Amino acid sequence: MSSTLAQSVPDSNRLNSNGVAPVIAVSATADTRLGGAHRVRLNSSYITALESAGLIPIVIPPLASPEQSREILERVDGLLLTGGEDVDPALYGQDRIEKCGKPNKARDETEIALSLAAREMRKPLLAICRGPQVLNVAFGGTLIQDIPSQVKGALNHNAEDERASRVHDVAIEPGSLTATAVGATKLSVNSLHHQSVKDVAPGFKVTATSADGIVEAIEWAGDDWWAMAVQWHPEEMNDSPDPWDRGLFRAFADRIARV
Ligand code: MN
Repeated sequence: MSSTLAQSVPDSNRLNSNGVAPVIAVSATADTRLGGAHRVRLNSSYITALESAGLIPIVIPPLASPEQSREILERVDGLLLTGGEDVDPALYGQDRIEKCGKPNKARDETEIALSLAAREMRKPLLAICRGPQVLNVAFGGTLIQDIPSQVKGALNHNAEDERASRVHDVAIEPGSLTATAVGATKLSVNSLHHQSVKDVAPGFKVTATSADGIVEAIEWAGDDWWAMAVQWHPEEMNDSPDPWDRGLFRAFADRIARV
């Protein structure tokens, strides 16, 4: 890395091991919800969160050729899996119950292929909401298809009209990547999900739960890959005055800077 290049980059930008600003592949959905045209969609709060952490986002839509995922991962520094549709229960060996949403086959296949490629290439991975769910399924885990109907006494995890409201607490495993990233072992979080991890996939460990036992975070258990996944939405807290809300994206950027 030349000192000229380093000096030309603002302090807020981190550099990857090649001395350039890191680029992140960000998964998105495609659907026909708006006006009949089939469109790619991504909440722009993810873009804000990444740019604020000094990371450059590029959007990866559901692909007709998910096998191209290795080609994508070759060209980026990390992967962000974002929120969205329910994962097809057939992918974890269950029949779809009525309360489980209609799956998006191309998105499932693309994100699973991206996750496996990230593991193969040891590229850091941050996953949010649907992210931990599809990541868990990609590595052989299972999901709760609908918390309200399948978990007796569960808290309300789907405060749809309160995207930035802290609606329940999570207890975070001391010493985990997640605890280190937020600098706490107890956190009050927003919650916009009706599914969650059930049986955690081999290689991963549960690192946060809510009081009703719902899995709120998982991460790769070994030290040969950095993969952290949370059920809450730190990207909806971009304007929060509390610094821990930026901690997950900061930890992701810090890890990429030293890969
Ligand atoms: Mn929750």
